[in-house]
Amino acid sequence: MDRDSRKIVIALDGHSSCGKSTFAKAIAARLGYIFIDTGAMYRSVTLYALENGGIVDGIVDEDAIVALLDQIEITFRFNPTRGASDIYVNGELVEGKIRTIEVSNFVSAVSSIAAVRTKLVAMQQQMGRKRGVVMDGRDIGTVVFPDAELKIFMTAEPKVRAERRYAELKAKGDDVCFEEILENVIARDKADSTRAISPLRKADDAIVLDNSYMTVEQQMEWFDAQLARVLSL
Ligand code: C5P
Repeated sequence: MDRDSRKIVIALDGHSSCGKSTFAKAIAARLGYIFIDTGAMYRSVTLYALENGGIVDGIVDEDAIVALLDQIEITFRFNPTRGASDIYVNGELVEGKIRTIEVSNFVSAVSSIAAVRTKLVAMQQQMGRKRGVVMDGRDIGTVVFPDAELKIFMTAEPKVRAERRYAELKAKGDDVCFEEILENVIARDKADSTRAISPLRKADDAIVLDNSYMTVEQQMEWFDAQLARVLSL
């Protein structure tokens, strides 16, 4: 089938900090699709919980977070400079506040709350209803779009992922410690894979991309081959 004539859903799941967003953004730009970073949505709820009494003194108060959910309105607006959509909570641009180590440390706990997932999954399904989306997350191929035409499960060695996240935060001027980042990467993998609801797992029909030692160009070549295969089905 001709690549332009059919819009599909591309589900991109995998471990934290393995470059899913960068890869998803490049694919979306290539195909003229919308890129949806679902991790940013879970991060935004976590930030809101931190700022509004849902997490106090390091304790995640599930009931308080569930009670806050109705007050949280998440929207995306395309930012041409970044070539991706920025995320807003109740009209406030939070893109620059959601990738801190503090948010990273609590996001797995917040994202394991059933009501949080129900709300965000419904939004994600709505955003992809016309297809033509690249959605990156943990449960896209298994829960959000089990019928996605192309499912990719991305991973890389933990040390390589921590090095990438470290470089990213350093470049932003954050004062970060490599060991702390490595611990966070490993802890999030564990929490995301073992939680009761929608744990991170490879969908049976997903193809694995381990990009530990691949350049961006090599990943795009790999993607082109996968896309050609799917579109010829
Ligand atoms: O992709 P990112 O690392 O920004 O995601 C942050 C966290 O949000 C993950 O570690 C996971 O706990 C949660 N998440 C999730 N389901 C998704 C996307 C992210 O539970 N679809």
